[in-house]
Amino acid sequence: MTTFSGGDLRRMLSRLRDVMAGGGEVQGRLDKVVKLIAKDLKADVCSCYVMRAGEVLELFATYGLSQRAVHLTRLRVGEGLVGEVAAHARALALADAWSHPLFVYRPETGEDFFRSLMAVPMIQAGRVVGVLVVQTREDRPFNDWELETLETVAMVIAELMAAAQVVKREELFQAEGNALLPVRLTGVTLNPGVGIGVAVMHKPHVRIGRLVSDDPKAELARLHKALNTLRKEVDTLIGGARGEAAGFGDILEVYRMFADDRGWINRISEAIASGLTTEAAVQKAHDDTSIRMQQLSDPIFRERLQDLDDLSNRLLNILNGGSLSPELPENAILVCRSLGPTELLEYDTMKLKGLVMEEGSPTMHATVVAKTLDIPVVAQVKGAHSRIDAFDQIVLDANVGQVILRPADELLDLYSSTVEAHAQQVAAYAAIRELPAVTEDGIAISLCLNAGFLIDMQNLFETNADGIGLYRTEMPFLSLPSFPDVGTQQSFYAQVFAKAAGKSVTFRTLDVGGDKIAAASANMPEDNPALGWRSIRLTLDRPALLRQQLRALIRSAAGQNLRVMFPMIASVAEFDAARRLLDIELECHADRHEEMPASVKVGTMLEVPSLLWQLDKLLKRVDFISVGTNDLLQFIFAADRGNTRVASRYDALSPAALRILRMVVEECEESGVDVSVCGEMAGQPLDALVLIALGYRTLSMSASGVGPVRAMIRGVRLSEIEPFVAQLLNSTEASVRERLRAFVRDRNILLG
Ligand code: PEP
Ligand code: MG
Repeated sequence: MTTFSGGDLRRMLSRLRDVMAGGGEVQGRLDKVVKLIAKDLKADVCSCYVMRAGEVLELFATYGLSQRAVHLTRLRVGEGLVGEVAAHARALALADAWSHPLFVYRPETGEDFFRSLMAVPMIQAGRVVGVLVVQTREDRPFNDWELETLETVAMVIAELMAAAQVVKREELFQAEGNALLPVRLTGVTLNPGVGIGVAVMHKPHVRIGRLVSDDPKAELARLHKALNTLRKEVDTLIGGARGEAAGFGDILEVYRMFADDRGWINRISEAIASGLTTEAAVQKAHDDTSIRMQQLSDPIFRERLQDLDDLSNRLLNILNGGSLSPELPENAILVCRSLGPTELLEYDTMKLKGLVMEEGSPTMHATVVAKTLDIPVVAQVKGAHSRIDAFDQIVLDANVGQVILRPADELLDLYSSTVEAHAQQVAAYAAIRELPAVTEDGIAISLCLNAGFLIDMQNLFETNADGIGLYRTEMPFLSLPSFPDVGTQQSFYAQVFAKAAGKSVTFRTLDVGGDKIAAASANMPEDNPALGWRSIRLTLDRPALLRQQLRALIRSAAGQNLRVMFPMIASVAEFDAARRLLDIELECHADRHEEMPASVKVGTMLEVPSLLWQLDKLLKRVDFISVGTNDLLQFIFAADRGNTRVASRYDALSPAALRILRMVVEECEESGVDVSVCGEMAGQPLDALVLIALGYRTLSMSASGVGPVRAMIRGVRLSEIEPFVAQLLNSTEASVRERLRAFVRDRNILLG
């Protein structure tokens, strides 16, 4: 093969177009196409494999291989080099194809004489529809230009084939009885669990018919009418059975504020003024914002984008007079690119057994909702939307981030028993819910919950936790364009108190910035956001923000016990400054003769290592501290908790971490200050066991941890574990996790 020029490529593409556009049988045209490519690229072979139903690639046309093999040779996606290219939609260029481990020899093709191979996927509308292959007798390497040339040719053929309807889409992807084969897609787990059901495609994008209008006034009137309907719809959702009553009031409230965002409405109005119809203007405002937001690497902005998608779609639906409430089959696995919180709540969530997203992130609102409803979620599944078809049977194994399409019967049986076992385990934890978390040797542990949304409050009673050890107040507000006023905040906190029904709640003041960038700080990107202007630093620099929040908390706590906790405190001076603001607000409240909280307790998170060297001073000032091991460990080990390459490099169960945790609990005991742990460790049974052995008596965790940790505590004799853990503090191993596991296994301690 000799190198090709740009002019050669253009000429070849135009000849290809002529052949495909010409009359005659499709087969005849494709035969001409492969011959033309082989000749122009001076290759000995050119073959075109086409994707058939059941993810099978069929040799459709070839120049150079035996004609006997045409329509006979079939390879499954993932099988052989051709299958490999289709599976990953990635080109391969090999000087010696035979020596590649994935090479499969198909005698009927007569390919014995051909050594080198270059294969590229044919992609149309985001789907792999075939594979184009060239081969030569000599074993020779291909250069990048040759590969790019073949890729361009493949793309053009795929489009031309689609236009000529060489293989109809339905023919390709519709069920063909048992010809359908299982396929595994991988993604990232956002909520673990297993779900079995049939695929339901989240509603396709609304098509816009009319684009241009010469009556902007009428269009503006349509916009305002549609916006009114939109607000009413959201209000109905908030007030309805799936809104406030279900505990989603705060998420939806935030969402409604976003729907009132002047910036968004102005952008649509401007587009209308420029001559677009309302629909086209909504789409344009959406596209412009998406492009801008996608250029920002900040995940929180991408989450706002999902809310915007949700709102834009809702508005387009209203303009089109459509409905957003699709019926679900009994067991449904919802497949979508991404999803807004109201879109998810619009479905009958009792029937939802899983959620597959092509995009999606852990802190997006839809994930929060799914977690609360215990719906397994796998996100960032490449090609989910294009490779899954409606009514495909799906096993969603969110424990390992996998989506299995059209599973074999044996696999289905296996997973059905997993679902059954999970249900039994949930029932077993529910059965011990009322039993105290006391060790066999009589040590009582207080189990509390971490919460961030009103909906989390219902878990307080479902798990029978003792209280809320960490209420992350920033959660519902993260995606807002501007911060909610005192009244709105007060109403949220009052609802939290009401739902806690007398159990204690520790409100952590705003912890924004770092991985939780709020709109307020987002236009100032930082090189090291985790070490940057975040959390208490941000709110001490914007005292009005912190004072408003403290005011809202004090007002909502009338007659209640108020517990306030400051995050990311790095020095005693910072704590003093924050505490001063709280005292000012308490005084103002008293001056207004408004009802005071029954009591006020003030504490801090221990997340920044510098505080370890001021603990003695700090402990004289605080009522309690809570160790935020998520942040503390990332700073101690200098390992970014959000960076998958290093996040799990250093184990929480390492001698260094355990020694620090031991030191903290000892100092707190000496000073008589309550101490708890509210990082992820607290909800992992083995880690929790170690924390208890180190002396911690209060653990705060997500709801899913309470059952397993309670079960573990009830089955352990602390006096046996304590000396072993004490001894591990002197270890020099990177992690003592395995040694602990073995110890626990020998004593038959249940770890969930
Ligand atoms: C922590 O850092 O351990 C913690 C509980 O806070 P967050 O995870 O909200 O940063
Ligand atoms: Mg933290």
